[in-house]
Amino acid sequence: MARRYNIRRVKIHRSYEVSEAAKLLDVSKRSINRWIDAGLPLVVRKRPRLILGKHLREFLQAHQPKKQPCRAGEIFCVGCQTPQRPAFDEVEYIPKTATTGLLAGLCPVCASMIYRFTTTATLAAASGDLKVAGHPAQQRLCDSPDPSLNVHLKEEKS
Ligand SMILES: [Zn+2]
Repeated sequence: MARRYNIRRVKIHRSYEVSEAAKLLDVSKRSINRWIDAGLPLVVRKRPRLILGKHLREFLQAHQPKKQPCRAGEIFCVGCQTPQRPAFDEVEYIPKTATTGLLAGLCPVCASMIYRFTTTATLAAASGDLKVAGHPAQQRLCDSPDPSLNVHLKEEKS
């Protein structure tokens, strides 16, 4: 989730169809569906599928880029709705720009991929004592052989 949404538009006591929620937040229905796949709960699973405003708000609050409740070595799992220490004590650094990237790991509880935004400056604080594959400091030394990895990951399109 690369941008901040206007959470205040979401009424806690209302429920929204996927298309309504998309319009409200100015995102595509595909984004909403992706959030549902990523753990946004549905009140009604049959069509029209309904999302409770309260859940939508909580989901967005938990995933706004600036909100980072995780401690060093933890990544927030969307499925579990809690910070998790990645399986095998291992993450992969996926560069997005020269100075920013994502730490990608595996949730040990639900086995989803989990991601944490980081910058090269905060990488050490974010990763703590985890092993970091593709660490930017290492890449500068030995030229990564596979630079094309997951470039499109988590791009939000509306
Ligand atoms: Zn999980």
